[in-house]
Amino acid sequence: MSQRSFVLFAVLLIAADLLGQARVIRVGLLRDKTVQKAVVMTHRGVYDVFTDGERKAQVTSHDGLKVEVGNGRLICRTLSSTYTARERIEFRSRQANSAFRMRSMDHRMAERAYEGGLEVTLENGALRLVNVVPLEEYVAGVVQSEAGRHHHLEYYKLQAVSCRTYALSNQRKHLDQGFEVCDRVHCQVYHGRNHTDTIAQAVLETRNMVMVDADIRLIHATFHSNCGGETLNAEDVWSKSEPYLQATTDTFCLAGSHATWQKRVPRKDWVAYLKRAYGVNTASSADLFPLLDHHPTCRGIYMNQREPLVPLKQVRADWKLNSTYFTLHEEGENVVFEGRGFGHGVGVCQEGAMEMARRGFSFVDILHYYYAEVHLVDLASLDFFRDIGQ
Ligand SMILES: [Zn+2]
Ligand SMILES: [Zn+2]
Repeated sequence: MSQRSFVLFAVLLIAADLLGQARVIRVGLLRDKTVQKAVVMTHRGVYDVFTDGERKAQVTSHDGLKVEVGNGRLICRTLSSTYTARERIEFRSRQANSAFRMRSMDHRMAERAYEGGLEVTLENGALRLVNVVPLEEYVAGVVQSEAGRHHHLEYYKLQAVSCRTYALSNQRKHLDQGFEVCDRVHCQVYHGRNHTDTIAQAVLETRNMVMVDADIRLIHATFHSNCGGETLNAEDVWSKSEPYLQATTDTFCLAGSHATWQKRVPRKDWVAYLKRAYGVNTASSADLFPLLDHHPTCRGIYMNQREPLVPLKQVRADWKLNSTYFTLHEEGENVVFEGRGFGHGVGVCQEGAMEMARRGFSFVDILHYYYAEVHLVDLASLDFFRDIGQ
């Protein structure tokens, strides 16, 4: 590399780094509650308070304010003053790595701490609370909320890359509500800032990394609790196929805590269901037998081979089964489902991935074990390729 092109390369890298750093995401908070009154306290750093775009006050460490709805407006009270806003109150941080704590006064709940800033607007007579947070801090918060504690670093890295990819490919879900993703399971569970060191390290070591397919599109980074020994093709569950979401065998999850399950149902209820829901001729033993004695050799889509077909996915939903991967047999007055796995079975099997991480596989090995044909790229290069494609 010539000296000049090296300089250009270095500049590009720095620019890419700055781009990545500046990326923030808008997260709708406490979306399972109607909040009319909230308390906001600084946790770290100094915050400026803006009402309808005008700077009104400064809040320093461990100081706070109350925000509430009154006469169709937003009211914000500090210890010494009261401000009102027609549309918007913002709590903007002055430095990077500032954090605040927040609690709804209408609900019994523990306060939650968040990185970044807070924007409050009106929504049907209540507060719409939006955390404007650096993407990387959001990812760490999601990994902590979704994955929990005491996992291996490589497992957290896998989670970080998945959560980041998911967030960016689902940014339009709540566009009409003034934020990008919500803090519930509908998008990704987010209960605020991360405080687990291994998670912080995993997010840092995978900084700005996302997963793309062969056409450099962000992948649908789906996962489930336990596949039972065999994952499924995306089209077997959701009708749309994806080249990277292919069925694969998995030996790593077989000792996982959700590896097996059992459910007993009165035989007469099961037979009545088959007749009612699918029109199975239950008087015909040729029609009924495969639906009372089901022993598949691998995962399938239907319980039986002849019309009327009984889809496993529907059976799972109707009987609230852990998975579609089960055998069925008669036992006295009952039929017994003996099942394997928990969840839809597409993409990463979490208990298998945890076991792989424990046995020393890297997160890249784990990704490639569950997703066929995916690549890890930096967000900045993703923008670069997208610009070229347009
Ligand atoms: Zn959502
Ligand atoms: Zn598995």
